[in-house]
Amino acid sequence: MTDQRVAFVTGAAAGIGAATAIELARRGHWLVLVDRDADGLAVTAAAIRDTGGEARIFEADVTDRAAAEKAAADVAADRGHIDVLVTCAGIGTRGGGTVVTPDEDEWHRIFDINVLGTVNWMKAALPAMTGRGKGAIITVASQLAFNSGGNSAAYIASKGAIVSLTKTSAVDFAKTGVRINAVAPAVIDTAMSRTSRDTSPDPAAMQAWRLARHPVGRVGRVDEVASAICYLASDEASFITGTVLAVDGGWTAA
Ligand code: NAD
Repeated sequence: MTDQRVAFVTGAAAGIGAATAIELARRGHWLVLVDRDADGLAVTAAAIRDTGGEARIFEADVTDRAAAEKAAADVAADRGHIDVLVTCAGIGTRGGGTVVTPDEDEWHRIFDINVLGTVNWMKAALPAMTGRGKGAIITVASQLAFNSGGNSAAYIASKGAIVSLTKTSAVDFAKTGVRINAVAPAVIDTAMSRTSRDTSPDPAAMQAWRLARHPVGRVGRVDEVASAICYLASDEASFITGTVLAVDGGWTAA
């Protein structure tokens, strides 16, 4: 048993998840990096080690519930506790689409990864947190759950489900000492957002539209989401549960 705070981050091989894992390590957490991309996990782990932090790699698909339960049980046994879970792993809809365009397999793929992938890791981490009467879970929704940009029905519906899952779980576990919150980023410069722009019919028009939708006149950076997540993970947010923190350069306000 060690006092050092233990944090799991799914989707830690790239983008917002990698930045969050690195920032949590910089703030003193011992990290478990979860992703299906082994090469990306190695890069994040190296970045953490370079700054004197420690990380364990756990290569898994977030849809694998048994893998999640095993990882959480192993770490809880080794380290004595799990303090933080951040569920960043997620995918966009291939080619966007309305309610009628993605086929049934695509709807299942989006919901399996984005929603059930979040559920699996919450279920896995909660026993160690409730057993100790302390813990913080941060899910990753999207501001699109509140203000749709259109043409991405399956993805946006999955993010709406994450908002509701977060709020109702926060209520269910409020008396256990576990706080459950979400962040709702607008467009953040990552591989995911670059791919959706570059595969759109007119990438230049898409970029101009994106810039116009953010009152601050730019898209966000991964470190700007990471610091919001780290705040919700910290004891500074001790009276905050069930909230959805927009990290959106003013998009939802406008
Ligand atoms: P990204 O593509 O850069 O990173 C996503 C990571 O999740 C990758 O490392 C990928 O390997 C991993 N992943 C995907 N499916 C997985 C699976 N089944 N099992 C394990 N790992 C899996 O994307 P990002 O932009 O950093 O997105 C992170 C989260 O933020 C996602 O949930 C996304 O929906 C959300 N988000 C992103 C934006 C944005 O503009 N980038 C905006 C709002 C919300």
